[in-house]
Amino acid sequence: MTSQAAPSQPSAVDEVVDICRDLLRIDTSNTGDNATSAGERVAAEYVAAQLAEVGIGAELRESAPGRTSLVARIPGTDPGRGALLVHGHLDVVPADASEWSVDPFSGEVRDGYLWGRGAIDMKDFDAMTLAVVRQWQRTGVRPPRDIVLAFTADEEAGGDYGAHFLVERHPELFDGCTEAIGEVGGFSYTVNDDLRLYLIETAEKGLDWLRLHAKGRPGHGSMIHDDNAVTALAEAVARVGRHRFPVVLTPTVRTFLEQVSELLGIQFDPDDPETAIAKLGPIANLVGATIRNTANPTRLDAGYKDNVIPGRATATIDCRSLPGQSELLLEQLRQVIGPDIEVEYVHRQPAVETSFDGELVDAMAAALRAEDPGARPVPYMLSGGTDAKAFQRLGIRCFGFAPLRLPADLNFSALFHGIDERVPVDGLQFGVRVLDRFLRGS
Ligand SMILES: [Zn+2]
Repeated sequence: MTSQAAPSQPSAVDEVVDICRDLLRIDTSNTGDNATSAGERVAAEYVAAQLAEVGIGAELRESAPGRTSLVARIPGTDPGRGALLVHGHLDVVPADASEWSVDPFSGEVRDGYLWGRGAIDMKDFDAMTLAVVRQWQRTGVRPPRDIVLAFTADEEAGGDYGAHFLVERHPELFDGCTEAIGEVGGFSYTVNDDLRLYLIETAEKGLDWLRLHAKGRPGHGSMIHDDNAVTALAEAVARVGRHRFPVVLTPTVRTFLEQVSELLGIQFDPDDPETAIAKLGPIANLVGATIRNTANPTRLDAGYKDNVIPGRATATIDCRSLPGQSELLLEQLRQVIGPDIEVEYVHRQPAVETSFDGELVDAMAAALRAEDPGARPVPYMLSGGTDAKAFQRLGIRCFGFAPLRLPADLNFSALFHGIDERVPVDGLQFGVRVLDRFLRGS
């Protein structure tokens, strides 16, 4: 390991903002098209250089030209223990500069915030991770167990060119990993001055994208026609779009609603969770989609000329299933769609769910409470997806824990993929301190 730090060397808290700003200035927009996603390689090389500077070697892996992910391992003091995976994606969703108050790729600091596409999703956590391990290397700190760092490409388009590629093609990089932390958890929700909930992600809904195919008799648009594929498809799509699946409370969501209701003094009736959810303010949106399966029509395609009735019509349905409900969702949806329309999967990733207990959860809670005496960690389910879906394929127990203390009035969930995405500078520094304690105590 390296020698003691010289007094002039920056601490993790000092340098996290600079690292995050550097990352924000690298445009890693993921359009879903490999030809325009070259920024990921630049970002991966930047991360590799930050690690190399303190003596950590990294493996760069490319799934396609420019689609670069990076994995590094920091040996722990007890090689007999399972390794902890700390993962963050390097890509971001695109940003339209004309809609923003600042250039989305300028990494500007203004009003106590660091602004830019990726500031909370999730270059903030990438920067925290780098800042912490760099300080460790400079000061000779070794973690109790092996820590595997993964910085991935392509999370925003499903991870086929990033985390899923690594898991399928280079699983040896994750040898010995038993648990993981990554995005969309660990952020605060202020109840009052003395109480902040920190939402730890212990579950994610599954993803079941379906394509519907309607067939009919092609014909002339001027004729009476009672076997029109467009009509049949439109009717089915409308039924799907209006359908509400029944409420099902999984262990994570039930625990969340019970704990949060008690802390907020809200009545919680398991037969009517929506009344309690409506009172949760800015996190109502986050929670509302986790009490049932959902199915939203997202694409329609039919026809090739204004006066020709086509023989086929297709639609895409973005379904999100609760843990263990994927088959049931399809079964229920078939009833809604009806017998004459063919249904196929176009993409499928199973849900994630783990329990909110054990030493790792205790270490999260202890680290949060040490830095915020008003912290109260609660488990929650994410309605979307993250790279956890890939890493759980290796049998790794996945959590969303990217600690961030947020101002009471910030609508955090609206910033994900939103306009004027930004992270509070003091929140970022808080995150570094929590992450440092957590990783040392994990
Ligand atoms: Zn993300």
